[in-house]
This record gives sequence, C-alpha cells and structure tokens, in this order.
Amino acid sequence: MSFPFAIDLITALWLGFTGACIGSFLNVVAYRMPRGMSVVWKPSHCPQCSHPIRAYDNVPVLGWLWLQGRCRDCGQPISPRYAIVEFLMGLTFFLLAYLELFSGGANLPGGPITEFTGAVQNVWYPQWALIAWYGCHCLLLSFLASLVLLSIDSQPKSPWRWLLAILWLTAFLAIPFWKQATSWLAL
Ligand SMILES: [Zn+2]
Repeated sequence: MSFPFAIDLITALWLGFTGACIGSFLNVVAYRMPRGMSVVWKPSHCPQCSHPIRAYDNVPVLGWLWLQGRCRDCGQPISPRYAIVEFLMGLTFFLLAYLELFSGGANLPGGPITEFTGAVQNVWYPQWALIAWYGCHCLLLSFLASLVLLSIDSQPKSPWRWLLAILWLTAFLAIPFWKQATSWLAL
C-alpha cells in the first residue's frame, strides 16, 4: 500500500467515522424531538428499560453489531434503523471525501478549484475553500437526512417523507457529479 493511498484511506475513514457519529446524533434528534425531550442534556438510554447505554456500547454501527441488536440490560431488540442511519451517514462522508475533498474539487462547477489532490495536500495542508465546500455539503446532507427521519417518525403517513427522501437522494447523487450535471443542464 503506497503512502498517499494509506493517508487518503485513513483520513476518509476518520471522516466517515465523524459522519457515523453525526448519524448517531440524528437518530437521537429524530427520536427525542417529537417527544419533546432534550437533545443534549440526557445521556443515551434504552427506550425499553431506560438503562443508560454504556460508553463502549455507544459506538456508531459497531455498538449495534457487537450487541447483536439487543439491549445489554433488558435484552429487548434495538431497531437496526439506528445502525443503518449511522452507516449511511458514515458512507456519505467517506465517499464525498474521495469525490470532492481529495479530487481538488473536481466535482465542483469550474473545478477542480485547486491543483492539489489527496488528503495530505488538501486536508493536512488545509485548502480552506475546498474544505468549506466539503463541510457545507456534509452539513446539507445531514440536515436533509434529519428532515427525512423527523418526517418519517412524526408523520408516518405524510407524503412529505417521500419528497424529502427523494430530495436527499438527489443531493447525494448530484453533489459528487455537480460539475457534469450543470454542464448537461447548460446544453
Ligand atoms: Zn434495555
């Protein structure tokens, strides 16, 4: 494994892990907001037995896997939805790192916006404009994902959830190929 390849992979995995943690937070938001609970002040707990979730079980995706989808205290099943949301958000941050951040912004209209490529040149010697684009897009996708989760939970029959889900998917698919998409539209 070459050095730049390894640094890219480690950086993307780290960003992916950050995404999974944000996914975990979105799960908390989607669960608590409709119930009028505080999003930040109460530690995570099992919805069945209210026992607090131990710090070492509260790892995105992996926690659910090594608990085999069950609460350590009461043994009640924990919905795989939590792990799926965490995994998808992690995957989003991971893929976008390669397609946007490490490519020098090759996906952006008028891009690439810097001649530098790879994690070392773009992240560890920060190209702030590019990092800002990446951050904005991650935030946008996270925000849309939270709207999708909230609309699924609070209005299970609302047609909005489909619209929001399609919007999220469109943004997810469009951002990595934004440059190509805008050039097609200009034709
Ligand atoms: Zn429990």
